[in-house]
Amino acid sequence: MKIILLGPPGAGKGTQADILCKKFGIPHISTGNILRDAIKSGTDLGVKAKKLMDQGILVSDEVIVGVVIERIKQKDCESGFLFDGYPRTIPQAKALEDNHVEINVVIEIDVPDEVIIERMSGRRVHLASGRTYHIEFNPPKIEGKDDETGEELIQRDDDHPETVRKRLDIYHKQTEPLIEYYKKYSESEADTKPVFIKIQGDQTIERINENMASMISK
Ligand code: AMP
Repeated sequence: MKIILLGPPGAGKGTQADILCKKFGIPHISTGNILRDAIKSGTDLGVKAKKLMDQGILVSDEVIVGVVIERIKQKDCESGFLFDGYPRTIPQAKALEDNHVEINVVIEIDVPDEVIIERMSGRRVHLASGRTYHIEFNPPKIEGKDDETGEELIQRDDDHPETVRKRLDIYHKQTEPLIEYYKKYSESEADTKPVFIKIQGDQTIERINENMASMISK
């Protein structure tokens, strides 16, 4: 099972990804988390990515494609994986085809911009694991602490409202065209065509997940 989750930043991709990955027993590949890990370990990749990420700008296609293609060669990806935050541009999607990576399902989570801005300001993250929470909609058991480790939760620099607006702008310009791209591909005659699923993201986490799981199993 190879899945792509598409949708604006703050659409709930990370939360849904965790649930789907557990259900299907596949790894959750979040390029955002890979880049944040690289920043923490101070690698060349992290140094290159940090400035761009803090401003909400995309890392170059060349760099991110290299990271993803290496990642999916690892053993845990043999029976599939779920991409969250990749691809983000048409060249990134084309790179999958060039590398013969056949995607089975593309899921778009659709959420209006105003809802995103409200959601992102309440988002908190556990840096070490990438687990995300929302102070109102998905709160941790203990305020400000990660459920599994009890460690501190933080607000990401790129979740501040001005940066969120910029990220949405970039999403509409650079990533939204992928929705048309995958819709067309799913309607084509190609043997490798994926199934395209659109989900309204303006519902509870459980409801979104139920809809997704039932559409995928169909
Ligand atoms: P995310 O956690 O997916 O919202 O990603 C956070 C930031 O990481 C983005 O705003 C980009 O700067 C960078 N990033 C993550 N995934 C990609 C990607 N596929 N292509 C380019 N930049 C990315």
